[in-house]
Amino acid sequence: MLKIKNLHASVGDRQILRGVDLEVPTGEVHAIMGPNGSGKSTLSYVLAGRDGYDITEGEILFDGEEILDKPAEERAALGIFLAFQYPLEIPGVATMTFLKAALNAQRKARGEAELTTPDFMRRVKGAAEKLNVTQEMLRRPLNVGFSGGEKKRNEILQMALLEPKLAILDETDSGLDIDALRVVSDGVNALRSPKRSMLVITHYQRLLDHIVPDVVHVMSAGRIVRSGGPELALELEAKGYADYVGAAA
Ligand code: ADP
Ligand code: MG
Ligand code: MG
Repeated sequence: MLKIKNLHASVGDRQILRGVDLEVPTGEVHAIMGPNGSGKSTLSYVLAGRDGYDITEGEILFDGEEILDKPAEERAALGIFLAFQYPLEIPGVATMTFLKAALNAQRKARGEAELTTPDFMRRVKGAAEKLNVTQEMLRRPLNVGFSGGEKKRNEILQMALLEPKLAILDETDSGLDIDALRVVSDGVNALRSPKRSMLVITHYQRLLDHIVPDVVHVMSAGRIVRSGGPELALELEAKGYADYVGAAA
């Protein structure tokens, strides 16, 4: 599904990614851990196609196709979804309306017809039930006054509706409260599928108590420096990142 080879990326004259090699097969959940500033978020932005990064070397193959020359919207249409670290708050726009617009934007980019309202309602209802999102929440303005857990629930619902082939979740460095943590882990587990790959980026091990990944990678100074099974996360929890800080700088 996803194959990253020798990826180098910089912002201005600052080199951030320094040769990332990573493969995520279809149906697997991989975690990327690593010290602060190692380039985890940059990797997620570069995968999603955010502007402002110079890719100086390397390639990103998605389903065998090079995507580096494709803009973010096209990558989203192909099925790459990056969960927002800092959710938008849009007063005056009901969550439901936002979700419909997001889904129809994706369909438009794929050359598919807009969903009819009954079709959309059926989908949103199905996904909302699966993820325990209440109708009341869907009617409220997007993220306005939502708790951390509710924002995450909303984000996971958006992901469920868009049915990505590759979902990238980047946990903020500040971490999640217990409620939000449970929402994210239950949501990710509910959306695990043999057809979907997931990349869960986290500084902390505790999320991985609930989302048991197939593979754990450690990123340090812009490279994946180690990969292993779920036990690697426990080792990092016990030992911290001292061995990795500055390892490849
Ligand atoms: P992580 O998510 O692992 O904490 P980041 O990808 O956020 O790491 O950042 C990696 C490094 O790149 C950090 O030293 C950060 O300060 C730097 N960096 C990230 N984005 C930018 C940017 N837009 N301009 C300059 N430096 C950046
Ligand atoms: Mg950081
Ligand atoms: Mg980060």
